[in-house]
Amino acid sequence: GQLGKDKQSENLPYSSSDELGALVKDFSELWRDRQEKNLQLNASVAELSRSEHFSRSLMDNAGDAMFLCDLESRIIRVNNEAEKVLGKSDEHLIEGMLSNYSQQFSGQTLTAFYNMLSSDEVSTYEDGFITDHGVIPVEVRANRINLDDTDYILLTARDITLRKEAEKQIHELAYFDPLTKLPNRRLFTDRLTSAIDLHRENGSYGVVLYLDLDRFKTINDSLGHGIGDEILCLVSKRLQNVLPAKATCARFGGDEFVLMLPESAETEEQCAEHAAHLSESILSVLAMPYEIEGQQLYSSTSIGLAIFPEEGVHSEDILRQADTALYRAKSLGRNGFQFFDQEMQSSAQERLLIEKGLHQAVDNGEFELWFQPQYSSNLEMLGAESLIRWNHPDGKVVMPGSFIQVAEESGQIVEIGNWILEEAIEKLSGWINKGLPDSFSRLAVNISPMQFMQVDFVSKVFRTLERWNVPGSMLELEITENMLLHNFEVAQNKMSLLKQRGITFAIDDFGTGYSSLKYLQHLPLDILKIDRSFVTDIRSGSEDAAIVEVIIATAEKLNLSVIAEGVETVEERDVLCKLGCHCYQGYFYSKPLREEDFLTQLTHPITVE
Ligand code: C2E
Ligand code: CA
Ligand code: CA
Repeated sequence: GQLGKDKQSENLPYSSSDELGALVKDFSELWRDRQEKNLQLNASVAELSRSEHFSRSLMDNAGDAMFLCDLESRIIRVNNEAEKVLGKSDEHLIEGMLSNYSQQFSGQTLTAFYNMLSSDEVSTYEDGFITDHGVIPVEVRANRINLDDTDYILLTARDITLRKEAEKQIHELAYFDPLTKLPNRRLFTDRLTSAIDLHRENGSYGVVLYLDLDRFKTINDSLGHGIGDEILCLVSKRLQNVLPAKATCARFGGDEFVLMLPESAETEEQCAEHAAHLSESILSVLAMPYEIEGQQLYSSTSIGLAIFPEEGVHSEDILRQADTALYRAKSLGRNGFQFFDQEMQSSAQERLLIEKGLHQAVDNGEFELWFQPQYSSNLEMLGAESLIRWNHPDGKVVMPGSFIQVAEESGQIVEIGNWILEEAIEKLSGWINKGLPDSFSRLAVNISPMQFMQVDFVSKVFRTLERWNVPGSMLELEITENMLLHNFEVAQNKMSLLKQRGITFAIDDFGTGYSSLKYLQHLPLDILKIDRSFVTDIRSGSEDAAIVEVIIATAEKLNLSVIAEGVETVEERDVLCKLGCHCYQGYFYSKPLREEDFLTQLTHPITVE
């Protein structure tokens, strides 16, 4: 609500043809008439003020609430209608501030506004009166008058609830589907257009889903529109139940529903993955039977998806893309979803397959730990890193690069991580019992951030070590820097507890994260693992060599050991050695090995150049 000075004419608050009616008529003509207004109004009000009784009856018989206020919005006089509207008697109202009842304006704003008014104009503005029964929308006419040489503001407030409701109805007709009450195409397109701008600004991605019920036309034609309408309403309810609050669900007419999921992810791939998940849940809720008039009806759905924003692509283009994809989904056999972008389609599908496969993998014993030895310069095996492999039922060995991230995003990593920890400690316990060489000091286990953040992580580690009777000093946990930055204090506490049992910590992929020394020096760390990207093709005097040199100097300052990973050639090893790194892991020494091959290697010292 803006306070404006637009002048309006109005119906008369009282229009009977008696004496009062005539007066009201005169009075309102004065309001309208700009030329003579000033003079006549003052004269008229002066006359009115002389007749207390008369002015009172004028106000009291008006159909609108009237207030006489001073320029600070202090109420001097009210009429019956004002008492009725605000639900307060005049003793309550008089001497109080009108601004206390205003939804839109503070006392300061009203005062400033009243002082701006000149006596020859009537200003109209919209406000809401705050009452015990809620806010009443009003249109207020404000008019400055002079009574006995003092300036007052005469306010006439008309209840515009009915008009507001009518406006709302018009708005609903224009922007909503009357059957399902969902936004219609116009509102959806408006929202999509502004969403596109927003996403361009904040760099996030959203998705549009174009839905079409597969057999709706048949149902509609054979069972009638009444049943068809009921199905559409049920579809709308089911959709709203599975959608996140920020989503828009619209009906474009017929059996076409269009959804928008804004700000779904930071990358297109992640957005596609969320969208694929959402599509799966939509397909399953819409495939459930529709119980109507004692019959069970079934319908499947097809979905076309398009991700936005895309360079130079407008809302109509995105809708067209999603529609194109929908067409493809239908032609590919219905009850499915398709992305407009084919690459997105295959990667999203692959990830869903992985996620589904992972559900059973722990229970079916499909995981296996492999072990990659770590060596000193004089070829003693110092330890090993355990690396997970997934023996997929279809016969392939799936590498962690293709499923760890999926497991992290789906939360499955917690269960898998527990298995890894248990398995690694169990294996280690077996090796200890068989006898390990003196040089072999520990087995490293990769820990995912989500696993580490589980409240019972520390106690799980302790219990497992106890169960297998393995000393904590033989266990090394590999964590990444980025995970420390997110919840530094929690991480610090957990690490200290684990450290007390002799467990050691290595920072994995060192140099690729935020590498904040400020953080690192406050953590009980033991080892920095130099990331493979610096090791590959490292040459003396190269940029990588300079980075490795800094890492080694950092480690010295923090009193940590270093190990280089991904060492593949003797040249790389030699450069690392010259720079001061004397522990190595990589294909040059050994690839990750199955347990039995690893044990063979453990007892048969290797020879390399
Ligand atoms: P990472 O922790 O950096 O593990 C080292 C990766 O480098 C392993 O890949 C290893 O096979 C590979 N590698 C070792 N030496 C060489 C070499 O000389 N050249 C080359 N090109 N590669 C080498 P892998 O086993 O595929 O694991 C990939 C990533 O998956 C790991 O990176 C780690 O982040 C994750 N991961 C593996 N096992 C686990 C696990 O048990 N738990 C968790 N949370 N993550 C795991
Ligand atoms: Ca690692
Ligand atoms: Ca690593």
